[in-house]
Amino acid sequence: MRFTSSRGGMSPVGFSEILLEGLAPDGGLAVPESFPQISPATLAQWRNFSYPQLAFEIVSRFATDIDAEDLRRIVNATYTKAVFGTDEVTPLRKLEDDLFILELSNGPTLAFKDIAMQLLGGLFEYELERRGQSLNILGATSGDTGSAAEYAMRGKKGVKVFMLSPEGKMSSFQRAQMYSLQDPNIHNIAIKGFFDDCQDIVKAVSEDLTFKANYKIGTVNSINWGRITAQVVYYFKAYLALAKQIGDPVSFSVPSGNFGNVLAGHIARQMGLPIHRLVVATNENDVLDEFFKTGIYRPRTSAETHETSSPSQQIFGFQSGASSHENRLQTIRLAHKKYGRLIDTHTADGLKVALEKREAGIPMVVLETALPEKFAETIVEAVGIQPKRRPEHENIEALPQRVQLLPTSVEQVKAYIQQHA
Ligand SMILES: *Cc1c(COP(=O)(O)O)cnc(C)c1O
Repeated sequence: MRFTSSRGGMSPVGFSEILLEGLAPDGGLAVPESFPQISPATLAQWRNFSYPQLAFEIVSRFATDIDAEDLRRIVNATYTKAVFGTDEVTPLRKLEDDLFILELSNGPTLAFKDIAMQLLGGLFEYELERRGQSLNILGATSGDTGSAAEYAMRGKKGVKVFMLSPEGKMSSFQRAQMYSLQDPNIHNIAIKGFFDDCQDIVKAVSEDLTFKANYKIGTVNSINWGRITAQVVYYFKAYLALAKQIGDPVSFSVPSGNFGNVLAGHIARQMGLPIHRLVVATNENDVLDEFFKTGIYRPRTSAETHETSSPSQQIFGFQSGASSHENRLQTIRLAHKKYGRLIDTHTADGLKVALEKREAGIPMVVLETALPEKFAETIVEAVGIQPKRRPEHENIEALPQRVQLLPTSVEQVKAYIQQHA
């Protein structure tokens, strides 16, 4: 399997060449020359595979330049009950006939990003050691990406994380999750500004190619193929758990921000998985809906961006539906009353749109992208119930926090990296 650049400025390279960079060397997106094809006969053989077995089959078809036994070892160490709570890793739960929730959020940071990021942690450590290199991951987060990256990379050899977050703009739980990490290779930097300011700083640092090379700066963005291939796996897992016969259609509803999750579904379909519809569910920062209606893609400035109860960024894509805050509150109430299940605001977005778009006789799977205790304020607002926390999270806000506060300054962030890289 080889990858080329969407800008055409790169001769084809293997998976391990683009794994650490995220982007192609010419700045374009890395794209596979073709997608591996999974026949119905192969799908049938995979029917009873465990999660790690399935993950190995799928990831190894992309990562053909990583030693197969090494990859198997990394995958087996990643997808365990100890890390994800169950042997199934992504259990499928029935709400009613032909309506399901795929639990993707039982990892360490209670959001689906753990599934891909945990594998990336193992792959990065392996590949850096093989090359005798080190890497400083620089990122900006408004919540889930940063914590998933930090919990995946903590204690990993050869990797440091420098994560920018907007001061005071995340929930106290999200702050505590990130800032309570005491691992010396994890650096939290709170920026006196907005999420967009954090992103602008990351962009400016990454565009300084001399600095980037000198300090071995990398990213873990949502178009990293390590992440994408890891996300393809759970579409297959859900399908195999659900389809009565191989070939039966199944639809998915995907709470979406930057398109990474639903892109993985699209790739699963390209590989031959019989996915009927991929429904992109968005919140009121809905660039996508506007894109479909006007043909104009207009990312929002921070001044225009609504404060939403399910914060995320922009997307464009396939069949779509959106929800308002009020819709999500109603859907959280409905799920609680009708199905006896507490769901978070993003999953509520997915369920709301799924209920509108589902078709008779075709199972619809809603991807659960976070657990309700991450967004407790909205759950209390909707149903008056404080979602239960895991024992290890009960007093997380009281733990000592390790965070550096910096102004919105590219130079000061660079100086901090220079001192700590
Ligand atoms: C990141 C995230 C999303 C959006 O995922 P994309 O891959 O960016 O589309 C949705 N829900 C939750 C809870 C997230 O953390």
